[in-house]
Amino acid sequence: MTSDVLIVGASVGGLTVAEALRRGGHTGRLRLVEPDPHPPYDRPPLSKQVLTGLWPPDRVRLRTPEQLEALDAEWVWGRAERLDAAARTVELDGGRALAYDTLVIATGLVPRRLPGPEPAGGHTLRSLDEALALRHALPDADHVAVVGAGVLGCEIAAAARALGREVTLVDPGPVPMARHLGPELGGRVAALHRRHGVRLRLGTAVTGLVGERGRVGGVALADGAVVRADLAVVTIGSVPATAWLENSGLALADGIVCDARCRAAPGVYAVGDVARWPDPVTGVGIRVESRTNATEQALVVAANILGDERAHTPVPYFWSDQYDTKIQVHGRVGGGDRVRYLEGTAADDRFVALTESDEGRTTAAIGWNHPRGVRTARARLTAAPSPP
Ligand SMILES: Cc1cc2nc3c(=O)[nH]c(=O)nc-3n(C[C@H](O)[C@H](O)[C@H](O)COP(=O)(O)OP(=O)(O)OC[C@H]3O[C@@H](n4cnc5c(N)ncnc54)[C@H](O)[C@@H]3O)c2cc1C
Repeated sequence: MTSDVLIVGASVGGLTVAEALRRGGHTGRLRLVEPDPHPPYDRPPLSKQVLTGLWPPDRVRLRTPEQLEALDAEWVWGRAERLDAAARTVELDGGRALAYDTLVIATGLVPRRLPGPEPAGGHTLRSLDEALALRHALPDADHVAVVGAGVLGCEIAAAARALGREVTLVDPGPVPMARHLGPELGGRVAALHRRHGVRLRLGTAVTGLVGERGRVGGVALADGAVVRADLAVVTIGSVPATAWLENSGLALADGIVCDARCRAAPGVYAVGDVARWPDPVTGVGIRVESRTNATEQALVVAANILGDERAHTPVPYFWSDQYDTKIQVHGRVGGGDRVRYLEGTAADDRFVALTESDEGRTTAAIGWNHPRGVRTARARLTAAPSPP
């Protein structure tokens, strides 16, 4: 295949598409557009080993210089600012226009921010530079407020405690990681953090950062209280990086709307955190923000560019490391699901559990310090019923 493939976003999703295309016999031109000045790197260690200082920054590189060289791709350092899908051109900052036969969009997410001013000492975490800035600032902080107790917020709280900081974790939900684990297992995450000395302020939202002489002095809560802090990390979710695709001709709805084969328009595919495609069983559009999905979806996209007609039908998977605990989830926990323990009990620090919906469907397999057990339990997931 000799067509001209342009990939916008050269992180794990975009890079994996490029590699799979070459492996699959793509001999044509391959260009990757990326504004981040660092060689492609992995994000999961940023909130874990990089933040605690366990890994030097170089260790997050996804590939060696030799591997990148062997890809025989052109690297275009810049930011895509406009797409004209009808004319098949992407315009970059600076005005340069790139024509393509096939476009792959792998632009990931942009962190949500709190309304109001952002004084010094306020952080978000998505990129390597942001991780290094936070790592640099943490040792000087007396009190850290982590705003948002999702997966990322919990990992940052754990890293800050590992560095000996006082930490308050604030979230409007009843338990941390409620969306990912449901109330019972989220309660175990709360207990884990309390055991390690994190203060939890649950059931109340943060309305903004409080500035004092131009620096963070705390975070303001919806109930009128202020949590004192000299460093705040805002992890209140992210939005798909699609601003540059407005009026491009692509359908956008919290992500790039694709068909089951990850095709957004003729000659245009989307991959990774930015892509929304129909759940193979329910038909409902889903977006999955996980490292494994980005890789698996990239292989599907590359195969389809090479002429296959493959649907993306993953079992979602993510993991999280907090203190000495590894949490792994295959499938998706529904809000009202029951928890059934297969190995270990609710009181143990090591267990495997399944979650089950009201209709008796097994929705997720969860491992808590139990990688082997959760791999086996994964086989017990059952498909969702077809919509009427
Ligand atoms: C701190 C952190 C920890 C994480 N930990 C875990 C974990 O433990 N387990 C797990 O499963 N997942 C984890 N994730 C999620 C995982 O990293 C993502 O799912 C994965 O990176 C998605 O890959 P992607 O290629 O779709 O997007 P990204 O990795 O976000 O890459 C998108 C790329 O597109 C570039 N880009 C954006 N806009 C433009 C533009 N206009 N023009 C050109 N390029 C552009 C960006 O610079 C970026 O390099 C974590 C994420 C973060 C941030």
